[in-house]
Amino acid sequence: MNKKEFNDALLEFLDASPTPFHATDNMAKMLENAGFKELKEEEDWKLQRAGRYYLTRNDSSIIAFTYPETSHYLMLGAHTDSPNLKLKPNPLIKEHGVIKFSVEPYGGLLLNPWFDRDLSLAGKISYLNTQNKIEERLIDVQKPIAVIPSLAIHLDKQANKNRTVNKQTDISPILSCSDTFEFEDLIRKAMKKNKIDTIKELYAWELSLYDTQKASYVGVDEDFIASARLDNLLSCYISLLTMCVSDPNSPMLFIASDHEEVGSRSSAGAAGSFLENTLTRIFPHYDDYMRMIRTSIMISTDNAHALHPNYADRHDKNHAPLINRGTVIKVNSNQKYASSITGISKFIHVAKSIGEPYQRFVTRSDMGCGSTIGPITATRIGIETLDIGLPTFAMHSIRELAGTYDAYSLWKILTQWHQYSM
Ligand code: ZN
Repeated sequence: MNKKEFNDALLEFLDASPTPFHATDNMAKMLENAGFKELKEEEDWKLQRAGRYYLTRNDSSIIAFTYPETSHYLMLGAHTDSPNLKLKPNPLIKEHGVIKFSVEPYGGLLLNPWFDRDLSLAGKISYLNTQNKIEERLIDVQKPIAVIPSLAIHLDKQANKNRTVNKQTDISPILSCSDTFEFEDLIRKAMKKNKIDTIKELYAWELSLYDTQKASYVGVDEDFIASARLDNLLSCYISLLTMCVSDPNSPMLFIASDHEEVGSRSSAGAAGSFLENTLTRIFPHYDDYMRMIRTSIMISTDNAHALHPNYADRHDKNHAPLINRGTVIKVNSNQKYASSITGISKFIHVAKSIGEPYQRFVTRSDMGCGSTIGPITATRIGIETLDIGLPTFAMHSIRELAGTYDAYSLWKILTQWHQYSM
């Protein structure tokens, strides 16, 4: 797979994954195509040596693993969720001649870029079917049905100086001028489009707004990739592709968890039990489990802030990552990132061995610092952990920007990890 093929497939994955549910579904399909077998948590497992397996939880988190006769696992971690606007349970507001969606922000999203975008709706619904059974399905409306119009500058002379955005009152997307519009009609139409015709009554949903503008290459030499959800579907894609080409005799595991953007504390989140539950089923004897943990490494990949050329003072100038200059190794002495010097050395050794670039990031000492699933996983299961990521601009905007060289470079490093890291 060359860089162009790799990036083209990345763009497709981003567009096909408007929610963590869709991302998980797409990753499951890619694993199936690569020969992985699905496991269900509620069933008995009969693992075969040199088998390759995957399982999901909440339809929004996924684990895939190989099952060789050895420890020394390379584990790859990422998260499936991105900041967005979610529909509230009573989803409509009818006032001032329009119908609006009632929304709640999910995660720390940059609100301003959500204005004047052609928005659609996707997620999971739960309903009573025609056989009187509760059923759950993913839906995607797939066309622009809503917009949050900006307030004109003539109505707010201070707009470019100090306009703030109120999360309760300023960001309701408008979707219709009709008096007769019903939410369930919209869902029924979307279900029909998604070839589901068994609904009797809609009970509950987890639906998010998303930008219908497709992911694209940007720049005179196509140096950039612009898309929604690069944080963290970019890392999901790289880690997943690494998994897909893995040798069944090579110990590898991939986990992508939901709810990272809101602290990871859920049954499907990295602070939950999904990984630990799975590992203890793969290694039912405690000694084997501990031997595996102590010989393995978790590489947590999550996007890193590239030095913004218009705001260069926001970085420590000695630790300021640049776009298209390679994977970023994240360090924080206060353990917001879990990278240890052992993991860092291994990563540098693999990168150098195959001639791929890398960079180092430390946040300014007088500024706060994000975190990742790295420290959470290290704390939960006691595994050696490395926090890395790809340099990006506009993190948590509705349209983020990454480089066209970095993802492919990291993929090459991860696919050759076992060959050079020992
Ligand atoms: Zn992230």
